[in-house]
Amino acid sequence: MARTTGPVCRLCRREGEKLFLKGARCLSPKCPVEKRGYIPGQHGPNSKAKRAKNSDYSLQLREKQKVRRFYGILEAQFRRYFREALKKRGVTGAQLLILLERRLDNVIYRSGFATSRPNARQLVTHAHFTVNGHPVDIPSYLVKAGDKIAVRDASRPLVYWKTIVEEKDTPGIPQWISTDRSNLNVLVQSLPTREQIEVPVKEQLVVEYYSR
Ligand code: SF4
Repeated sequence: MARTTGPVCRLCRREGEKLFLKGARCLSPKCPVEKRGYIPGQHGPNSKAKRAKNSDYSLQLREKQKVRRFYGILEAQFRRYFREALKKRGVTGAQLLILLERRLDNVIYRSGFATSRPNARQLVTHAHFTVNGHPVDIPSYLVKAGDKIAVRDASRPLVYWKTIVEEKDTPGIPQWISTDRSNLNVLVQSLPTREQIEVPVKEQLVVEYYSR
């Protein structure tokens, strides 16, 4: 399964925004976006890309890259999501984000069972979860309304899950999922609406990028 490898903080610095790829570190003063808020590269703040004028194309490209990196998806798969969103009724940009939010790794992150999406992805690929009683180890699995996600019985004795049970509920769990921390369960109550997806992106620019 393909995934983004390498130093992820550079991705945030390239987009000039926190993409929250490293859990607690992202909220600490150690976050490189706070310390070095310029794009990475040999020439630092004086690099060409920094000085380049923002054309329509570059704005669209950067927004597309930002969304892709937020969710940790490679280009080919992201394109497939876009084609899928095109087939759906409604606003394509919103449909694209809804598809991305429905990914199992994202739901695990949103529910507070993982500190970041890469962490959630790893938990999923290590087969710690079941969906409706069946083991699922595919991060891109798309959840549906009514799906019940649970930590597998065999995984429950792990210390990691004990800390999750003992932690207080994470703030910011979206309304479309409900979490039962003490039983390590997540219920997908409904599919998200665009208003419930708190990602600072202009999805219309992504649609424009792929519609050129
Ligand atoms: Fe991004 Fe987190 Fe690294 Fe900050 S610490 S640059 S938010 S991955």
